Amino acid sequence: MSERFCYRCGISESEGGPLIEGLCQVCFRKENPVLLIDGEINTELCQNCGSYKKRGVWVDPHTYELDELVFEVAENALLEVIGDSLDERVREFGIISPEELEEIEELSAGRAVIAFQPVDWHIEYFPAIITYEIRVKARLHELQYELHDEVKYVTVYVRQTVCPRCSRFLGGYFEAILQVRAEDRPLTEEERKVIGKLVEEKVDEIMRKDRMGFIQDTIEKEEGLDFYMGSTSSARKLAQAIKEKFGGTISEAYELVGLDRQTSREVYRTSVSIRIPKFQKGDIVADKRGNVYEVERVDGKGLSLRNLSTRESEHRDWKTVKREGIDTVESEKSEAMVTSITPTEIQLMDMKTYETYELEKPDMDLREGEIYRIVEVRGRKYLLDRKE
Ligand SMILES: [Zn+2]
Ligand SMILES: [Zn+2]
Repeated sequence: MSERFCYRCGISESEGGPLIEGLCQVCFRKENPVLLIDGEINTELCQNCGSYKKRGVWVDPHTYELDELVFEVAENALLEVIGDSLDERVREFGIISPEELEEIEELSAGRAVIAFQPVDWHIEYFPAIITYEIRVKARLHELQYELHDEVKYVTVYVRQTVCPRCSRFLGGYFEAILQVRAEDRPLTEEERKVIGKLVEEKVDEIMRKDRMGFIQDTIEKEEGLDFYMGSTSSARKLAQAIKEKFGGTISEAYELVGLDRQTSREVYRTSVSIRIPKFQKGDIVADKRGNVYEVERVDGKGLSLRNLSTRESEHRDWKTVKREGIDTVESEKSEAMVTSITPTEIQLMDMKTYETYELEKPDMDLREGEIYRIVEVRGRKYLLDRKE
C-alpha cells in the first residue's frame, strides 16, 4: 500500500497520522475548530425588575444583588451562545470548572467539556462589560489521538431595557378587575386584612409562572376591595384562593373597552367577582324547620353551628346550608342571672328589666347567681353562654 499524505501540510501518514478526512492530526484540529464563537455578545436586562431573556422568554433573576445579577445575565447569554456555537459533531457537553478541565485527558468521540471564567470586567455602569476566557476540550472523531484544546475570549455587553411586563405595568395596564365583596353587607376590617395578606402571598406564587399576574392597583371601596390585575388568569386564581378560605360564589363579567388598532379585534376587560357568604362568627341563624343556631366558624367548606336547643356543635357544608335554608334571623340579645335551678327548669332574671322567667334546663353546667348571655328568636329565649 502506498503512503498517504496530509493534503494541507504534506506530512506523511506514518509521521502525522492517522489521517482523518485526508488531514493529519494537527491539521484536522486546526481545520475543525470546536467552538465557532463571535468575540462579542450583546444581552440586556430589565432596569425595573432585573428580568432577562432565557431562550427568548423573559424570566425573573435568581438574585437581585446588582453585581451578581449582571454576571447572572451575562453568563446566561454566554452559555446560550456557547450551546449554539459548538461543532455539530459535539453531541454532548458539560460545563465544569477550569481546574477540573485542566485534568481532563480522555473524552469519547462526540463529547466536549467547557470551562469559562471572567477575566476582565467593569460593571459599575451600563452597558456592563465582562470578558470571559472560555476553554474547551473535545473529541470530534474516533481516530483523534489528542483532544481539541481551544481557548477563546468573548466580551459580553449587558445593556438596560424595560421588559414587556414592566412597560405594561409602568403604563398603568391591567387586564382584569378582581372584586371582593360579601353577600348583603360590606367587608369587615378583619376580612380586608386577611384577604389583603392572602392576595399578596398568592400573587407572589402566581408571578413565578405568570409574569403578567401583577397587581396594578388596589382600591378600597366601602363595600369591598377591587384589585386591578395584569392577567385574567391571575384574577381567577386569586378568587379561587379567597373562595377556598371563606366560601362564596365566583362570577365573571366582560366589558368591551375598545378595538385593538393593529388587529381591529374587540378588546374586553374581565371582572372577576368573588362574593363571600354573609355569615360571620357569632351570627344567630335558623333553618327552615325552625332550628336556631349560633355560627361558631365560617370557612371554605361551610359553617360550624351550635344548635341552641341541643347545644351540640354541627357542621353544614355550603350545599346543605342552602338546601336547609339556613339564614340569619332577627334576634335580640340580653343578659340574665340564674336565680334557681330545678332538675328540669331554670329561673332567670333579666339584668335590665329585672323580670323573671323560666327556661327548660339546658344540658350544661349552671350555677345560681351567675350571669348568662341570652338570645331571643321568634319569641323564644335561648341561653348562649356564661358572661365572661
Ligand atoms: Zn497536516
Ligand atoms: Zn421588568
